[in-house]
Amino acid sequence: MHTVIASHAGFCAGVKRAFKIAEETANSPGRWYTLGQLVHNESVIDYFRQKGINPVNNLDEITEGAGIIIRSHGVAPDIISIAKNRGLNIKDATCPRVNRVHEIVQTLEAEGYDIVIFGDPEHPEVEGILGWCGGRASVVSEINDIMKLKAYDRLGIVSQTTKDEKEFFQVVNSLSEIAGEIKVFNTICSATQRRQKSALELCREVDLMIVVGGEYSSNTTTLFKECLNTGVRTYQVQDAAGINPQWFEGVSTAGITAGASTPDWIIKEVLCRMTEYEEKEIQAQAQEQEVESQEQESNVQEQSSEEANDELFARMEAEMAEYETPGRGDVIKGTIVQVLDDEVMVDVGGKSEGIIPLRELSLTPVDSAKDFVQVGDEIEVMILKWDDDGTILLSKKRVDSKKVLDDLEEVFEKGETVRGTVKDIVKGGLIVDVGVVGFLPASHVEDGYVKNLDEYKDKTYDFKIIEFNRNKRRGSQVVLSRRELVLAEKQQQKQDFWNNIEEGQTRTGKVKRIVDYGAFIDLGGYEGLLHVSELDHKRVEHPADVLHEGEELEVYVLGVDLEKERVSLSRKKLLKSPWEIAVETYSEGDIVDGIIVRIAPFGAFVELDPGVDGLVHISQLADYRVEKPEDVVSVNQQVKVKILSVDAKEKRIGLSIREAQRDEEQQGVEDYIAQQDQE
Ligand code: SF4
Repeated sequence: MHTVIASHAGFCAGVKRAFKIAEETANSPGRWYTLGQLVHNESVIDYFRQKGINPVNNLDEITEGAGIIIRSHGVAPDIISIAKNRGLNIKDATCPRVNRVHEIVQTLEAEGYDIVIFGDPEHPEVEGILGWCGGRASVVSEINDIMKLKAYDRLGIVSQTTKDEKEFFQVVNSLSEIAGEIKVFNTICSATQRRQKSALELCREVDLMIVVGGEYSSNTTTLFKECLNTGVRTYQVQDAAGINPQWFEGVSTAGITAGASTPDWIIKEVLCRMTEYEEKEIQAQAQEQEVESQEQESNVQEQSSEEANDELFARMEAEMAEYETPGRGDVIKGTIVQVLDDEVMVDVGGKSEGIIPLRELSLTPVDSAKDFVQVGDEIEVMILKWDDDGTILLSKKRVDSKKVLDDLEEVFEKGETVRGTVKDIVKGGLIVDVGVVGFLPASHVEDGYVKNLDEYKDKTYDFKIIEFNRNKRRGSQVVLSRRELVLAEKQQQKQDFWNNIEEGQTRTGKVKRIVDYGAFIDLGGYEGLLHVSELDHKRVEHPADVLHEGEELEVYVLGVDLEKERVSLSRKKLLKSPWEIAVETYSEGDIVDGIIVRIAPFGAFVELDPGVDGLVHISQLADYRVEKPEDVVSVNQQVKVKILSVDAKEKRIGLSIREAQRDEEQQGVEDYIAQQDQE
């Protein structure tokens, strides 16, 4: 079973802040209490009980001189007044986002607006907000509650920070029908929204969801309902003990999310329990997921600080940053101060220096860090380890990998293409470097079956991303395909082909297939037929006698039938005819060999070359008068002939056996005399 944690899960910034304040308070002198549970989570409550901080339900339970911690939900102003009047110490951990809701309702009240709060009337946050409304507010927990309300002239609407946004706007819609002027403040916290959004996204990938959080935690309950509504089997547990192993039978992927009041240690416990059902490899994924989750949380914090219209929250972020050292998975900037072959030292500020081992430096293997970076370079690094003893282990590779994955994700979502180089051949396909390692299944290399994948190695192509899953541990996160691109390219080539091909052109093609009646020639996008009769001027018994598959050749376009998409080709047209060759080869006076191929009353025809016959007139057959040619020559007889004339235009060659014999005799006499002279 594979386990994935939602990218946003667990403690939100407001709860983290309250937790921090309570921890600091636990170390300060005096007796301290929380008014109600610090967060809706029993484990957190127990944790602080052990540190001496107990929850009370009201101020009467607290003796004089003690201190009270106001939790992130906030309280009504009269509670603060009573506490102050009694001389109690106060530590206010109200989430700044909740404080902002208090400010909004105070302004609305001052401006004379009636107020509706969308929320659970018994939730402490809503009770607190009500206290700041000056008695002009009503609470609506669902649409049906609106029926009980009167009509309003001027109405301001706010929401409990942990409610569902869709439901909030449904309530706003209904309220607009009973109100004149209306002012709407969407006070739902983005931390809640992010947790809901990432949980819903995760629901699409998993067979089962575990929602971790306290029974009375509003945002955990909302998360649980949202997940359940997707149709995915969903369970809510307070901690690891609530997990039933039978739930996971037949489950291949399980998701985990957690409410904003659920501490990391409980999420980890749940994760550990679930990983008992996984293989070791999956455990590694869980850790990585945790890093990513932390990183995402860090991003959330950064994004939050950028929300210009939310100064309060930005102040809180800044405040929290002061007492937080970077944690595992955080991405920070640093300056390189030393480069060795096998490691790089980086100044990460605050008089701290971290180490990037060579293996964590680059996405592509490098032999020495010196080949890759230099002193003074400013780089972004991910923290792998930041121990109290000062050991800081960093990774540049993981930041680069994240950026590459971000880019690839965008390419995937937009349906664009990415360029990559084939690095290796593995069972079932090819390994492609697209910044990270991608897998190209064999069936997606071309638009048809590819027998030999070797020829693709080290070649660069464009690819479509057909699968992208940055959390995947088994197999590749990026699955590629060329099939669609190859098809499109071929289609384009075909279109270009038919737009441009014309009768009379000479084209270069490749012999694709040889059949008895000719050969199909690939002209780059489409095939034409080269009929056996168009192969040569000479008779060709079988096309394979002159062509072989894969051979490149030039062909002449004899005809184009656009309607039937047929092209007829000729090779013969581009070859010299035997007569053209004969004209170049033979000259008057030459004595050559030939074969008598036909006998006529007026002489004998002699084949000099296939397709080239000359005539020996009867008067040129012998030195004496010949009655009939058959008297001196016969068919298939080999003869020596002298070329008397060559008429290229009329394709006629005049020959003489008599002259050839005379010349030979003359030559014999001359050779004899020459030999006598030498002796
Ligand atoms: S959920 Fe939002 S509003 Fe509530 S405590 Fe967390 S950060 Fe604050």
